[in-house]
Amino acid sequence: MSKQSQLDDIKQKILDDKVTPQLAKGATQLVFGVGNPEADIVFIGEAPGKNEDLKGEPFVGAAGKFLDEMLAMIDLKRSDIYITNIVKYRPPDNRDPSPAEKTAFMPYLESQLEVIQPKLVVTLGRHSLNCFLPDLSISQVHGQPKRYQGTVYLPLFHPAAALYNGAMRQTLVDDFALVPAIIEKIKSS
Ligand code: URA
Repeated sequence: MSKQSQLDDIKQKILDDKVTPQLAKGATQLVFGVGNPEADIVFIGEAPGKNEDLKGEPFVGAAGKFLDEMLAMIDLKRSDIYITNIVKYRPPDNRDPSPAEKTAFMPYLESQLEVIQPKLVVTLGRHSLNCFLPDLSISQVHGQPKRYQGTVYLPLFHPAAALYNGAMRQTLVDDFALVPAIIEKIKSS
């Protein structure tokens, strides 16, 4: 079975399992993930916002535009990578996802990663980082690849948080520029 059809099955399972029914009720649709199932890099955000909820795609608003700019800076397009969120329905009023909501979606996210088998998982923001590496603080480890249980994670600031904060924005751009060298190092190790 192709990776894409395995991903389609996981998406259907989220619907069948009625994950976070309260969130599902308030959302327009499930925002599962997009991109290349054969990608070396998977980007993981927090949860869909208004634009993502309407379009059914992660990172299509202002933060997504900024993400596209940073991808272009390292010669990548969306079709080269895979992008998803921890929580796959928009939380009401863009509130932070609750611990229970994040926990409910983790098995499905782990299945997505098992199918794609990326060389690098880029976590965007502290929610995403702490779902995989709960003891690390984003302000201390951003830009530093961390190997854990056979997977390499790169913690980055969230593009929405960095967008309008000059210093954080520059830090995120600088960290993003490290991605090609990190991938090369993983491939050669
Ligand atoms: N922020 C996220 O974490 N994910 C999105 O898809 C959009 C904004």
